[in-house]
Amino acid sequence: MGMDILKSATRKNKVYIRIKSECKFIPDISVFPLYCTCCNAPQSKLYEHLGSRYGQVGTAICEKCGKEICVTDHDNIVASIYINNYPSNEIFFNKLYLLDWKFVDKLDEFPIKNTLEKVTEELKKYDGNFINVDELREIIENIINIKTDGKMRFITDERFSILPDDINRWIELLYRAKIDIPAKVV
Ligand SMILES: [Zn+2]
Repeated sequence: MGMDILKSATRKNKVYIRIKSECKFIPDISVFPLYCTCCNAPQSKLYEHLGSRYGQVGTAICEKCGKEICVTDHDNIVASIYINNYPSNEIFFNKLYLLDWKFVDKLDEFPIKNTLEKVTEELKKYDGNFINVDELREIIENIINIKTDGKMRFITDERFSILPDDINRWIELLYRAKIDIPAKVV
């Protein structure tokens, strides 16, 4: 229970596939960056979510000012976290990680015909299940025939200075597919 600084790259973020309902997929996040709400310093390390108890995830100490950064959540599926302030400072992972169907939906404009239909059909096989973000990316990569190398780094919110590897690579896929995304290459 709680949270810890990420020590190995094996920890994977997931999505819960709900293709037959409106949401399409919901992020279930286990690795996340932090920033200090006191001095605004982005923290240089990633943290891993080890499970919350009564909404308490854990506390980090700001690398710059030494103040506490308390993380809480409110769900079994970690689609968002609160940093220091509940409920005003909620960080939504569909926005921070671009894990949102609205970007997949843009494959409608992809130069290969029926791309969106193919992706939707393939993902239907996983309806009601969790899959890793890496698996989600590979499914789409195979259909649109675009390969990522995992070497690109992105920023989607200036408050955070780093994103997890699987998330950077997911965003790389969107970027290489020429989908219009709110992300900056770093
Ligand atoms: Zn601070």
